[in-house]
Amino acid sequence: MNFDDTPQEAEFRSAARKWIDANAPKQYEAELSKSSLGRIRLEKEEIVDVGKAWQKKKAEGGWACLHWPKEYGGRGATPIEKVIWQQEEGVYGKLTQPFQIGEGMCGPTVMAFGSEEHKRHYLPKLASGEHIWCQLFSEPAGGSDVAGLRTRAEKKGDDWIINGQKIWTSGAHYSDYGLLITRTDPNVPKHKGLTMFFLDMKSKGVEVRPIKQANGMQEFNEVYFTDVVIPDHQRLGAVGDGWNVSLTTLMNERMSIGAGVSTGFPELFEFCNSLMLEDGPAIEDRNVRSKLANWAVKASGLKYTSMRAISALSKGDRPGPENSIGKLVAGSMVQEVAMYALDLQGAAGALSGPEDAEVAGKFQAMLLRAPGTRVEGGTDEIMRNIIAERVLGLLGDIRVDKDVPFNKIPTKGR
Ligand SMILES: Cc1cc2nc3c(=O)[nH]c(=O)nc-3n(C[C@H](O)[C@H](O)[C@H](O)COP(=O)(O)OP(=O)(O)OC[C@H]3O[C@@H](n4cnc5c(N)ncnc54)[C@H](O)[C@@H]3O)c2cc1C
Repeated sequence: MNFDDTPQEAEFRSAARKWIDANAPKQYEAELSKSSLGRIRLEKEEIVDVGKAWQKKKAEGGWACLHWPKEYGGRGATPIEKVIWQQEEGVYGKLTQPFQIGEGMCGPTVMAFGSEEHKRHYLPKLASGEHIWCQLFSEPAGGSDVAGLRTRAEKKGDDWIINGQKIWTSGAHYSDYGLLITRTDPNVPKHKGLTMFFLDMKSKGVEVRPIKQANGMQEFNEVYFTDVVIPDHQRLGAVGDGWNVSLTTLMNERMSIGAGVSTGFPELFEFCNSLMLEDGPAIEDRNVRSKLANWAVKASGLKYTSMRAISALSKGDRPGPENSIGKLVAGSMVQEVAMYALDLQGAAGALSGPEDAEVAGKFQAMLLRAPGTRVEGGTDEIMRNIIAERVLGLLGDIRVDKDVPFNKIPTKGR
């Protein structure tokens, strides 16, 4: 593994740094640096508005959706250049949160299955931040097992009529378009009767109900469909081939590798360095040091696992299951770190409110976001299944309903 930039990578890094230095919205730098995992907020502005302005500026400068082809609003950059950009973009990358699902998952799916006309119409607007897209996959009965979904699409002339419900749809409340997977044939096994569409989120019959989270934020939603009409030309892939199309979306989710995973360790280390316990500085306490040492080892293991993926990208290889390992380990580590930081603060850890609880607030936000991290994009158990099957070559999960027609799978009411 070589951690040094190649001459071309170094040149790209320097150009990116120069552009960011000249164009980044520096007035938000301090606030963005303070916001922790699970709490990206700006005091006086909506993060989506500031994010849209940043995305537009990046698109004008040729720095948006770097790995997309130029004709669709990207730069045609290599995957490693995308990683370098993320490293250089630093805290301003937090502003790109509303666009990540569109850039990393919906856009590449439209690119793979959409008509040329659709690609040229929709993708540049997605790249420039004018339009935000969301991913309408999960349902109450279809999360880890997304093929268990029940939202129906029925053909009527040249249109499809959609009825059903999605849940946990991040950003649906500010999205313009959505990638929607539906069941078009309940008479065949569950993976075979699915069809993918994209739709205008302002279509008649689409109702978005925000879900209030434990951390006080509302980042995801329930989305209800009542007789929503989608024209057939907005179908992605063949009728009944939706599972295949969704694999493209999900593969891109795994490929949208970040510059590193959040572990909470740098924040904890900084906090322990300044904290005074009853009998002296926390950083000199044997128990604190022992905990920090353990997490330091884990954090550096994660750093080098992510480096291995970056190194593979640099050589033109596809990253393997490293992301599953990173997500699995980092998700629970953030939770443990946040809990320990709050314990160390004693009663002060329970404080809330912006003035007197800056430190507690940071770790509280982390603690409340951590369970979401352990569920989104595949739960801990699903990550373990992936590692067991694809890394260790163990026997596959038992899938008893794989070959049974969907409408013959026993449910509670049948
Ligand atoms: C912050 C956040 C954002 C999200 N954003 C989106 C979004 O934008 N769009 C979208 O479509 N979805 C989104 N989701 C939904 C997410 O994809 C699902 O929550 C996730 O796939 C798990 O599905 P579920 O909640 O239905 O849990 P279930 O699948 O019902 O799982 C329940 C429990 O059973 C376990 N389990 C399930 N199957 C197995 C198995 N085979 N082996 C062992 N254990 C198993 C799980 O690990 C879990 O502990 C989001 C979720 C979160 C938390």
